[in-house]
Order: sequence, then C-alpha cells, then structure tokens
Amino acid sequence: MVNQEQLVDAVKKTVSREDVKYVVGYEKGTYGCEVTPSFAHSSEEAEKFIFTPLCVHNLAIYPKLEEKLPLGRDEKEDTRKIGLVVKGCDSRAVVQIIQEKGLKREDVVLIGIPCTGVVNPKKLKSRYPNYAEIVEIEEKDSSFSIKFNEENHTIPKEELLFDACINCEYPNPPIYDILIGEEIKSTNKETYEKVKVVESKSQKEKWAYWEEHFQRCIRCYACRDACPLCYCKECMVDQLDPRWVRRSVNLSENTAWNIMRALHLAGRCVGCSECERVCPMDIPLTELNKKLEKNIMEIYDYIPGISEEAKPLLGTFKPDDPEEFIL
Ligand code: SF4
Ligand code: SF4
Ligand code: SF4
Repeated sequence: MVNQEQLVDAVKKTVSREDVKYVVGYEKGTYGCEVTPSFAHSSEEAEKFIFTPLCVHNLAIYPKLEEKLPLGRDEKEDTRKIGLVVKGCDSRAVVQIIQEKGLKREDVVLIGIPCTGVVNPKKLKSRYPNYAEIVEIEEKDSSFSIKFNEENHTIPKEELLFDACINCEYPNPPIYDILIGEEIKSTNKETYEKVKVVESKSQKEKWAYWEEHFQRCIRCYACRDACPLCYCKECMVDQLDPRWVRRSVNLSENTAWNIMRALHLAGRCVGCSECERVCPMDIPLTELNKKLEKNIMEIYDYIPGISEEAKPLLGTFKPDDPEEFIL
C-alpha cells in the first residue's frame, strides 16, 4: 500500500519548485470509490492527492496535451516542468515518448509508485452491479478489501486486476525523481495465455473472432485519446485530404482503424490497458496489443519503454534482423 503522507509530501515538494508548473496525480472522484486525475498548482492542492487500487489512468498522456499557444512579442516560452505521479507502465510510457523525442527528460518530474496492480473497473462493475455504492477499496496482501453496503468484502486480487497487471514484469517505474516506498522484487512472467488461445485458431477462425469484435467498434476513438503513445499531431483517421479511412462505421473501416492503430503501437505499446479500459464496446484491445508485443519480443528481442538510452524499435537495425517479410 502506498503511504499517503509520503505521496502528499512528495507532491508538495515538487509543486513548490520554481521550475515546476503543476503536478498531475489522482484524487477521489465524485461518487463511490471512483478516482479521477487531479492537478495541483500549489502545495494546498497537493493535500487532495491519493493513490488507491483504482488509480488506473495513465497520466503520461498529459504532457503531450499541454497547449502551446503562439507567443506574443517579448513573450518567452514557458519551459517549466510538469510533475506526474507514475506507476511502472506510466513511467515506461514516458520513457518511450522520450526515446521518440516527443519529450525531453527535463520536461517532467516523476513521482514513482512501485505498483502492485490496479483494479479493472469493468471487472468490478460486473462483480458488483451496485458498483456506485462501493465506498472504499483497500489492498491487503493478495486480496482487496471492499467496503460495500456497510460491510467489508474480501476478494482475491486476481479476480479484479487488469489482465496485464496479473503478470506484470515491470511494476517499478524505470525512471523517476522521487520514489514512494521501496521497489518491488517481481518474479512475474508474462505468459500470453489469451494470445495463445487466439494463435491456436485457424486463419478463418481468427478472422471470424476479430470480425465479431471489430464490427462492434463505434469508432469513438476513446482508445486513441486515452493512449499516452497515440500523440500524433493529426491522426490519420482525422485527415480529410487525403482521406485514408471513411467516417462511416462499418466492418471494413472499423477493421482498417483497429489494425492500423495496433500496428502504429507495435514496439511502442507499454501495456497499460488504458485503451481497453475506456473502450465502450468491450473490444479486447489488450489481446491485440499483447500479440504484437509477443511477436516483437520473439522476432527482435525488443521491449518498449524500458531504457531512456535505447532507440525506438523502428529506429534500430541489427545486421542479423530477420527480413523474410521484405519482398
Ligand atoms: S501493468 Fe504493471 S505497472 Fe501498470 S498498472 Fe498494472 S501492475 Fe502496475
Ligand atoms: S474505444 Fe473501442 S469502440 Fe471506440 S474506437 Fe476504440 S476500439 Fe472502437
Ligand atoms: S495501446 Fe493501450 S495498452 Fe498500449 S500504451 Fe496505448 S493505451 Fe496503453
């Protein structure tokens, strides 16, 4: 469990720095046990910061959303840093963006949280249909204690965690400026169970499987908007001239969108599950992302977002890289 006092102190210390504009973390949401991203511009505002097993949002999205307004005469660019509270995968997203030169290390101050996994709200809602009445969730070793209807319920962690968290190999932030608590010694190993089930299907069955999911897509682009690695200035699907994907929602265009997005994230996705969390149509996007992660690891021995010094996958070349795909 994260020490709240230590977290608030770290946020206060960070936001009080002259070279820091604000700190993004989490605060209690408006009902039940919900948590929402929060901004602290002063040490007073830091008091509201919390960290619970429902701090699911990947806050690495925020520095790239910072609006850069045109500067007037004699105006200087605001180069102050943005503080972020980061779990393992959030910090990996920052590393990946730094590798891609989307950010500089000095643009951010990272308050790292060694992470023991976060609750998938969809699993919680399906287990507790009166979800809004849950007032508190606490982590207790290998279970969660849930305060609901004036009673405490205990539920094994594995039943509520995101699939990506169950076997997370990188719970510690690879980069941080302040660490809250001790690093976790993890022996987890990603087993790609769900990916292997799809891999075992025939080509025809695989196609039918994904068609069934893609035809439900409503092209709301929430998956893109929540993803810290989807930060192109103009997404291909929004371009009108040339227009690559029609706006109509149908299987063909939906498939083009989902495959295009998965391939754009290949070798870049850090497995935070944000896309799947926000998808209103429950499309198993993690399965798609994990399939590409698995292939890239097997073919190129490459894991995204681990080291600031590493180059992005598409920016590297080894003479013995397999090249059967080159016609
Ligand atoms: S994927 Fe890992 S670091 Fe990210 S929330 Fe899950 S356990 Fe934490
Ligand atoms: S969030 Fe889901 S429904 Fe919306 S565009 Fe992405 S895959 Fe489609
Ligand atoms: S594609 Fe999904 S899992 Fe991967 S980094 Fe983006 S939001 Fe996270």
